[in-house]
Amino acid sequence: MGLGMDSQAVRTRMVQKIAAQGIADPLVLGAIHTVQRHRFVDTALAIQAYEDTSLPIGLEQTISKPSVVARMIELLLGGRREANGRLGRVMEIGTGCGYQAAVLGCVAAEVYSIERLRGLHDKARENLRPFRLPNVHLLLGDGMAGYAKGAPYAGIIAAAGGEAMPQAWIDQLADGGRIIAPMHVPGGKQALIVVEKAGVQVKQTVLENVHFVPLKSGLA
Ligand code: SAH
Repeated sequence: MGLGMDSQAVRTRMVQKIAAQGIADPLVLGAIHTVQRHRFVDTALAIQAYEDTSLPIGLEQTISKPSVVARMIELLLGGRREANGRLGRVMEIGTGCGYQAAVLGCVAAEVYSIERLRGLHDKARENLRPFRLPNVHLLLGDGMAGYAKGAPYAGIIAAAGGEAMPQAWIDQLADGGRIIAPMHVPGGKQALIVVEKAGVQVKQTVLENVHFVPLKSGLA
């Protein structure tokens, strides 16, 4: 399969499958259709880039499944839009290869994406260059501390799962904002957690089980 010319058609099929799984937000589906996922994986894996699977990106990390990326971003948006038709400022923890950051760059006004592994931070920078997304800002650091300079965020999304929601994320969330993150739940599993902030109220909802790489503290 030549991925140059016909990658648009393969992405159309991938978007149809994701829509069939219940993802309906046109902004999300449009962004998944736009971003060439095969450009974020090694050439040898490009042929699998439009299958609904996670793939290795080096340093024991993985690019998330496209259906999970779509699901999480749809939850992050929660139907919310600013006047420009997008969500406002967003923080991502776990840039990895930069794929989800690119998708977020198509749905949010500004994206601050943090990665703790320099090798992946550099790789994401390379991968994202041809997409020319001036609103996507890549940061090297420990995402557990968030990024206070970009706060408050309309949305925070994590691509790695920890034991508990770091307080910094809740503090940096705007009033009316949402956090979507995998977290450990009793029974040794991981589930998607939605946090909604309304004034002093912080509501937490536990959704379906997921399987993400671990959230780790510190730089490496
Ligand atoms: N969104 C990515 C998925 C990357 S996998 C993509 O589209 O490819 C999750 C990433 O989270 C890994 O690269 C891992 O190094 C990173 N990570 C784990 N703990 C982190 C932390 N505390 N701060 C920043 N990045 C972290």
